[in-house]
Amino acid sequence: SSSEDEGEEYLFKIVIIGDSAVGKSNLLSRYARNEFNMHSKATIGVEFQTQSLEFDGKEVKAQIWDTAGQERFRAVTSAYYRGAFGALVVYDISRRSTFDSISRWLDELKTHTDTTAAMMLVGNKCDLESIRDVSLEEGKSLAESEGLFFMETSALDSTNVKKAFEIVVREIYDNVS
Ligand code: GDP
Ligand code: MG
Repeated sequence: SSSEDEGEEYLFKIVIIGDSAVGKSNLLSRYARNEFNMHSKATIGVEFQTQSLEFDGKEVKAQIWDTAGQERFRAVTSAYYRGAFGALVVYDISRRSTFDSISRWLDELKTHTDTTAAMMLVGNKCDLESIRDVSLEEGKSLAESEGLFFMETSALDSTNVKKAFEIVVREIYDNVS
């Protein structure tokens, strides 16, 4: 490649939102460090993790932000959203109340981010099939009506975790490149 191309680099901020205990922190730790914590404390959490990907020979850095637990107090600040190019909006398939909250999270997201932000609806804990409370179809249909990508994931057994993050990063990259 030419010398101009070699300097090209992308940095995308991506936020993870959703009710407390849906698995946001574990989705991030599974993706960024391949770690899962059965007893993770909401108060322990880094601000963000950076993952490097490569598209078309270009380095793309995804800076993925975690809430560090402030969603318990419905106090996710505008600073958290500022500059975000994408978002994972997460519910827990075994807890309907977390699915019912999605519209509120989407409202907040749309208030604070650009309309072109890439958004993925994520139904996490799909390993808990035996106590499922939200069907796959309900998730799909909400995503469709809101124009979001959709995926069911499990931070516990790793199902679709990498895929969910990388679809969002890819979409942002395609939008800006
Ligand atoms: P957050 O408050 O949204 O950041 O949620 P956490 O990542 O702290 O997870 C809350 C609880 O759910 C913890 O006990 C996790 O171990 C558990 N958890 C997270 N993801 C999954 C998952 O995919 N499957 C199951 N079974 N439990 C999960
Ligand atoms: Mg957390």
